[in-house]
Amino acid sequence: MGADKNTRPVLILLGPPGAGKGTQARRLEERFGLVQLSTGDLLRAAVAAGTEAGRAAKAVMEAGGLVSDQIVLDILADRLAEPDVAGGVILDGFPRTTVQAEALDEMLAAHGERVTGAISMEVDDAAMVERIAGRFTCGACGEGYHDSFKPTAVEGVCDACGGTEMKRRADDKAETVAARLEAYHAQTAPLIGYYEGKGLLDRVDAMGDIDAVTEALVVLVERLREPA
Ligand code: AMP
Repeated sequence: MGADKNTRPVLILLGPPGAGKGTQARRLEERFGLVQLSTGDLLRAAVAAGTEAGRAAKAVMEAGGLVSDQIVLDILADRLAEPDVAGGVILDGFPRTTVQAEALDEMLAAHGERVTGAISMEVDDAAMVERIAGRFTCGACGEGYHDSFKPTAVEGVCDACGGTEMKRRADDKAETVAARLEAYHAQTAPLIGYYEGKGLLDRVDAMGDIDAVTEALVVLVERLREPA
């Protein structure tokens, strides 16, 4: 597997909620000049803006279920066509169903593009509830933290930008996390086989500390970016 010369890299991070997809995507973004594209972030923005898609998605997201493929695909197709992502993307939280994975292949093929590679971030389910229930982000710059695993140096102050408004996601409550893990196993985990069957899958152990996982991902992404 390797990047085609004339197409942008399209990398996919697969893994259950709490695996660290968002955290790692942000780090890879800086390192490789790619743009993180999170359908969860796009949907949360649509909910906050009160768009039609956002109104349709809100209750499903709060219950920990998956938003309809059509809504997600429309949002993603629009975003993928924007000029700032022309240099390549890291998809975080998409695709989440086989229908989405097939639609992505078609969407890319229509422009002579394809998925460069998918990386499965492998974790123990049991640890995910604690990871998710303790996480929060800086409202100003989006830097991610965790009550136990990655606290801010000064309580309530973002290490990265000095912001003081911290946010916790509405669906990061323990009750909702169980539903999100269930949706992952039922609908998203089969995509590991989907990409493995196409020879596009790599796996990383995502239980280690954040820097160790980044290093493992960097090695894989370096390799994926080498021309075939
Ligand atoms: P995330 O930020 O990736 O954990 O996503 C938060 C929530 O947004 C999920 O629990 C789903 O309700 C919804 N969501 C995000 N991405 C997708 C997707 N690709 N397909 C369906 N629902 C999604």
